[in-house]
Amino acid sequence: MSGPLTSALWIALSLAGAAPAEKTFTLATMPRIDVHTHIGNSWEILDDVMALRQAIQDQLHVDLAMWFSLGSAEPPDMAELRKRYQGRIQFCISDYKIQDGLRFSPQELVDWQKQGVMGFKFYPGWQPGVQIDQPAFAATFAKMEEIGMVAASPHVTNPCGTFGRRTEWFAEPVEFWRQQRAWENVLKKHPRLVVVNAHMLWLCYSDEQLDCLRYMLKTYPHLHVDLATTPVFLHAIGRENLRDFMIEYADRILFGTDMASQWFVPVLDKKLPKIRDKVPQYQRYFEFLETDKELPSGIQDEQKMRGLALPLDVLEKIYFRNAMRVYPHVAGALTQLGYFAAADAATGGAAR
Ligand SMILES: [Zn+2]
Repeated sequence: MSGPLTSALWIALSLAGAAPAEKTFTLATMPRIDVHTHIGNSWEILDDVMALRQAIQDQLHVDLAMWFSLGSAEPPDMAELRKRYQGRIQFCISDYKIQDGLRFSPQELVDWQKQGVMGFKFYPGWQPGVQIDQPAFAATFAKMEEIGMVAASPHVTNPCGTFGRRTEWFAEPVEFWRQQRAWENVLKKHPRLVVVNAHMLWLCYSDEQLDCLRYMLKTYPHLHVDLATTPVFLHAIGRENLRDFMIEYADRILFGTDMASQWFVPVLDKKLPKIRDKVPQYQRYFEFLETDKELPSGIQDEQKMRGLALPLDVLEKIYFRNAMRVYPHVAGALTQLGYFAAADAATGGAAR
């Protein structure tokens, strides 16, 4: 059908909010969001992230639509950030030295949220003995629950396992499990706290640890995990078990890489490339999630693993749908950028 009557009807329906059906995404067109990076606050580096976006598009033919920076730098001017990148770069506040007490008071969290930060990242540091469930932190966690500030990739414990070569990076197991249980105490005490734990909560270095992560996700409905840095550990889990887990908990897993500017080298970076030259790091994550290729794994590529070849609907959740639902500002920014019609973003998980 065509003609003026049909057009008028279509316009009337559009104005009434009957948006066209959500477009179908392919691997090439879906907006991928990296929820875990450390890209600092200098405009020069943030501009370089946009150059990386272009390089990923040119070389891998996929769309890295958005990055979350977790500090440790202070966010830059938030109005300028929005103007310059149209929401493609979002910021969290962070505290990397919680052994001195949490850095932000409850009121400061409220103030930062008003400025547009999307969450609060905290990290216990490398030392053992940090007590995340100490009573002094409770007021801050309670305020986060109350105002809906997301715990953005808090890093709990360090990886612990005995597969292959041990390094000093691996915490000894008693301290590992002590910190895990202390974190569970926080989740028990603050049941409405929305959390995206970094690195699969480091429960990703054996089939048994993965069972513990299943227990955590089943028990705490507001708990999610990101995938940052995990591909070098996942070879220690049976591939079918891992694939079943990713499908079963697809609503609770978010894509992230730990990509960083020059001051920090995540384990998947072999050298110190400029941000715009980090395409291979992303390619490795994509091949692991999307293909069944045999891939190098382990911190020094000393292991092999086969990619998970996850179904498209699972990949959509991991790459963007969960981030849209869990974090503020994401759905709105993606809509403004043209990935969704306004009505679709509302049903796909509007900003809270
Ligand atoms: Zn990180």
